[in-house]
Amino acid sequence: MTVPVIFNIQKFSVHDGPGIRTTVFFKGCPIRCAWCHNPESQLYQIEEMPKKNGKMERVGQSYTLPELIKEIAKDQLFYEQSGGGVTLSGGEVMTQDMAFIEPLVKQLKRKGISVAIDTCGVAPFANYERLLPYVDLFLYDLKFIDSQLHETYTGTSNELVLANLRKLSEAQANIDLRLIMLEGINADDETAVATISWLKAENIAVSSVHLLPYHEFGKEKYLRLNRESQSFQAPSDERMAELQNLWTAHYQPVKIGG
Ligand code: SF4
Repeated sequence: MTVPVIFNIQKFSVHDGPGIRTTVFFKGCPIRCAWCHNPESQLYQIEEMPKKNGKMERVGQSYTLPELIKEIAKDQLFYEQSGGGVTLSGGEVMTQDMAFIEPLVKQLKRKGISVAIDTCGVAPFANYERLLPYVDLFLYDLKFIDSQLHETYTGTSNELVLANLRKLSEAQANIDLRLIMLEGINADDETAVATISWLKAENIAVSSVHLLPYHEFGKEKYLRLNRESQSFQAPSDERMAELQNLWTAHYQPVKIGG
């Protein structure tokens, strides 16, 4: 079994699913979103990142299964009082070794902790299948309905993303659909209509839709990693409200943000 590397455990998180949550960020991602605000999440190995003071910071740490469960369970009372739980995120948790992730999810469930999985959809469906009985919610990113755009901005086409979404819906998984909104790229009416048409044609059932305006939070990390970053623009508040209205005619609820 390959023990995953974790680069952050964020307590009291309120943007990664319902209630108060602990978000566990697994290191390693199969795609490369041009706007990724956690560039240190992309490589699967522990790495060094220079800090502002010039000293090196070690990014990533391994936990044993009991250590990780103990850390997550520390806030169980808050989860219970707020309807929260744990969100396994990344990077891409669904590309980690399932020999670690499956028992993790099972044991959390056995303890009564609600589990959400934040995923970009680029992972073998067999991995999703293994977790399906124990996962309360999938936060599923659909970045571009157009495969060419998906390839241009993430380095990977979207066929697997769409196929996995279809299969998760068929399996009656609880899905929150999350769509990054980039002005001038995918925040126009045509893209929204094309996305909704595909979802309808495929009978995809989702519990909620989240429109996520682009933000620049990760910029400074690219500088520290000596990597180039691309600049994007967030849609205006008015544009986000228009998109929310357009989506709401077909799916409810539609929220702006996580
Ligand atoms: S899927 Fe997430 S972690 Fe992976 S590159 Fe895209 S934004 Fe970054």
